[in-house]
Amino acid sequence: MSLRSQRVMSARKMVEQYVAGKGVDCPRVLKAMEEVPRELFVPEILRERAYSDHPLPIGYDQTISQPYVVAKMTSALELKGDETILEIGTGSGYQAAILSKLCKRVFSVERIPELARKARSRLEAYGIHNVSVKIDHGLWGWKEFAPFDHIMITASVSSNIEPIFSQLKDGGRLVAPFERRKKQSLFLIEKCGENIKETRICDCSFVPFIS
Ligand code: SAH
Repeated sequence: MSLRSQRVMSARKMVEQYVAGKGVDCPRVLKAMEEVPRELFVPEILRERAYSDHPLPIGYDQTISQPYVVAKMTSALELKGDETILEIGTGSGYQAAILSKLCKRVFSVERIPELARKARSRLEAYGIHNVSVKIDHGLWGWKEFAPFDHIMITASVSSNIEPIFSQLKDGGRLVAPFERRKKQSLFLIEKCGENIKETRICDCSFVPFIS
């Protein structure tokens, strides 16, 4: 069997067991996660564990998120295909790669230059051209391309994220892990004019957002 079909099989199995098998049923998200080989986004030495349902270290004390959590966060945005998304915390680039299959453009901000550079070259090598990665402090979002249809933050937030939230379009959705009283939960926050609707999605465990 070719390397490519092995990857496709492994990703399909991962999705069946840990994504669809745990209740995520958005067909577009399942398809994107079957298509993107997670092994290309983890350090070579961890490739054998790439299709397990675990976060894995990617260096600099950071991790690539667990597939189930990637699926939950992605499906919470209910992407149709024509959106522009801001991601804070590029990390390995895996989440950005999944988003890139489901929307028009992804703008991703990463504060660790080495991770940002690696993510860029992985995305390029894999043939993804609708993701831009900027090395910067994520709290300032990416003003030049704001406002965004939706926003995803992939590090755990415990402080005020108003500067990021202000870059979300009216009617937009922001999904992020928030830490309150030492407990992290994934939240969906919807901006509806002056109103903000918060929905708790599930427990989670992310590296901290550096404020
Ligand atoms: N989405 C990533 C996983 C992210 S891990 C993936 O698919 O692999 C969280 C990432 O957020 C780390 O790379 C970390 O360096 C980054 N991060 C933490 N605080 C940040 C900040 N203030 N600005 C930008 N990036 C930040």
